[in-house]
Amino acid sequence: MVGGGQLARMSHEAGIPLGIRFRLLSDTPQDSAAQVVRDVVVGDYRDLDTLREFARGCDVITFDHEHVPTEHLRALEADGIPVRPGPDALVHAQDKGVMRARLDAMGIPCPLHRIVRDPGDVAAFASEAARAAGARQDTGDADTGSGPGSGSGSGSAFPVPVVLKTVRGGYDGKGVWVVRSTAEAADPFKAGVPVLAEEKVDFARELAACVVRSPHGQAVAYPVVESIQVDGVCDTVIAPAPALPEQEAVQAQELALRIAGELGVVGHLAVELFETRDGRVLVNELAMRPHNSGHWTQDGAVTSQFANHLRAVLDLPLGDPRPRAEWTVMANVLGGDYPDMYSAYLHCMARDPQLKIHMYGKDVKPGRKVGHVNTYGDDLADVRERAAHAAGYLRGTIPE
Ligand code: ADP
Repeated sequence: MVGGGQLARMSHEAGIPLGIRFRLLSDTPQDSAAQVVRDVVVGDYRDLDTLREFARGCDVITFDHEHVPTEHLRALEADGIPVRPGPDALVHAQDKGVMRARLDAMGIPCPLHRIVRDPGDVAAFASEAARAAGARQDTGDADTGSGPGSGSGSGSAFPVPVVLKTVRGGYDGKGVWVVRSTAEAADPFKAGVPVLAEEKVDFARELAACVVRSPHGQAVAYPVVESIQVDGVCDTVIAPAPALPEQEAVQAQELALRIAGELGVVGHLAVELFETRDGRVLVNELAMRPHNSGHWTQDGAVTSQFANHLRAVLDLPLGDPRPRAEWTVMANVLGGDYPDMYSAYLHCMARDPQLKIHMYGKDVKPGRKVGHVNTYGDDLADVRERAAHAAGYLRGTIPE
């Protein structure tokens, strides 16, 4: 697995009972997965020679992140090393411009979008987005975001806010800006990377449809979940998404299965979705690796996303994705002011014997994802409260 983060750490954990020998390419020996995997190569995933050396003797290569240059993956494939998911699929998770173009061609609903060259271009896009929102408002109740407070106050304020994203390299909200004027739109262009403009979707909530597909073409779909973000970072995931009509849930699962099939994805695919207030479901993002919206499966599903990702990349039959409990809630633990989180175990474990704690071995830094907790049961309010309490207590935001 390329990348030494928590996804690799938890994938390795899932491979232990199957006797899967794991080799890791990690940036540093201290990375989350490098602390627990025995066969670690420390090196730079952007360097082809390092990747080749690492891949020698591996049966298959898979990923903890999507940042390996696409051309390097093609080179590894040309060397005869199976890369899963392969570069032709993975590029849709690496490049938001490529992803949007492909989903458009497949007729899959996405936010209104366009690649933009400069702030003037963004201004033109904002007018187009305002017109589209206005047209929807004539037939429904879409929020254009216009009105008091939505502009920057500068002479070149946009009629509606626009979301700008660098097409490559973003994660956890980094590389995403909400801009309201040409002045604000200048920053994203500074990196010299192409920029994608999107309408700012007035979503009711965010959902994720996670599926796993093997080279054979076998595929499984997990229940559709609700994902609650705080400051662009995933905070809580509820499985299944509360009050999601059965028909919409099945449609979202079918959509994810179709994307996985048509793009030739191998492994875990998370399709991040916006459920709009006017009843549409739009695709926000694709992730082709284990994903935060699937962490609940470790304790809440018959087969976890990590186990199924490994089964898929090794072309083994996939495991049952069905839930074990009526409700499972995952809450991320972010770093707070207390460097030692372990002293909080006493309280959390004593308060809730069913609580499942997953820590990543990372140094605590404010706002950094350092672990998560899973809770489950048949009373959603209780399950949510227990997850939120444990995550808050571990972070140090809930006093003794
Ligand atoms: P990342 O690569 O950081 O995961 P995303 O494209 O998923 O970037 O954006 C991060 C968050 O920003 C999303 O989860 C959502 O809350 C918000 N966001 C992204 N795109 C839009 C949009 N077009 N409209 C409204 N909110 C958005």
